[in-house]
Amino acid sequence: MTAEWMNIAGDGIVVHRFGLPGARPKIYLQGALHADEVSATMALAELVGLLEKADAAGEVRGEIVVVPHCNPLGAKQFVLGRHLGRFSLDGRNFNRAFPQVGERVVEELKLLGPDRQTTNEVLYIGAKILGSLTRVGAPIERLQAALMELAWGSDVIVDVHADMEATLHLYTSEKAWPVFQHLAQRFDVPVVILADKSADSPFDEVHGEAWDLINAHLAEGTEQPGFRTAGCTLELRGLSDVNPELAASDGQALRDFLVQLGAVAGTRETAVGAAPLVTKLDAVEVVRSPTIGVVIHLKPLGAKVGAGDVVARLYDPFEPDPHARWQEVVTETGGIVFARWHQRMIQAGMAVVKIAGSVESSLGRRARLLD
Ligand SMILES: [Zn+2]
Repeated sequence: MTAEWMNIAGDGIVVHRFGLPGARPKIYLQGALHADEVSATMALAELVGLLEKADAAGEVRGEIVVVPHCNPLGAKQFVLGRHLGRFSLDGRNFNRAFPQVGERVVEELKLLGPDRQTTNEVLYIGAKILGSLTRVGAPIERLQAALMELAWGSDVIVDVHADMEATLHLYTSEKAWPVFQHLAQRFDVPVVILADKSADSPFDEVHGEAWDLINAHLAEGTEQPGFRTAGCTLELRGLSDVNPELAASDGQALRDFLVQLGAVAGTRETAVGAAPLVTKLDAVEVVRSPTIGVVIHLKPLGAKVGAGDVVARLYDPFEPDPHARWQEVVTETGGIVFARWHQRMIQAGMAVVKIAGSVESSLGRRARLLD
């Protein structure tokens, strides 16, 4: 059990490690990649406390790495008294464009003899490449490489975020969903959104993508391509949903997931929740604002709505025509209201409400996560 300070381009993160390096399963959990999503930080802080007790009792079986706040660059971004997360001040989303290392690993593997092209060699080469990337480029690029290096070779990655105002929800791939079913149950997550490629290289997807390329190469040789990292993004409600009760129950649910995975011995203490709506990213409707104005939300988080329902009203104080001053914000498809914009003054075109519909409601859309 250690807590180490890791220098990244002059800033530091605190990395909590449990279990022996190389023990399986290896589980990596990080919070607040978007810097202001700190319900994640408090849940992981609780988890660290529970793991310290488990460690003292000799109950840690796997290797567990926990970073309660993984973004020291974004944590310092106070502008005119407001904290700005999500994007670095040079305009880049902290959770996009993580390095794709699969091809580079395969190139280096090809330089070895066929009998040396093993999963262990992949773990070594990948860590070496990512380590070299932590020493070049802009601070955000070094941070991203360092986080990937910490997580490299994990069996399971849980990237913990929060939305603006939201219910619990979870993003993962079709392949990884069976692994995270237990996590969703322990949290009683109402909405699960599946996508194999949700955006431009977010943290939870780049590991699986690298292993897909590497395994395709290994399958041509003698090594059995069995290993693949399963990653998910767990959204712990909204930005302001930070209180001691939620942090404690979230920490317990994460610990129970680690028990389920065999990384910690012991019994599970949280109840299993109801079956979630499991849908696809293509079936998520983003309802946008037609105009600038003050948004009045009409549907609470978690509400079920139908096609054509009014989910919000907008008051445009700059519209002289009294008949046009109020506008209704109407859904195209039905589903569960799982996220809403948190500020009430909004501009035209902004995402006001997000609704998770059934898979059949996707209407042939090709959806991507918002930047
Ligand atoms: Zn986020």
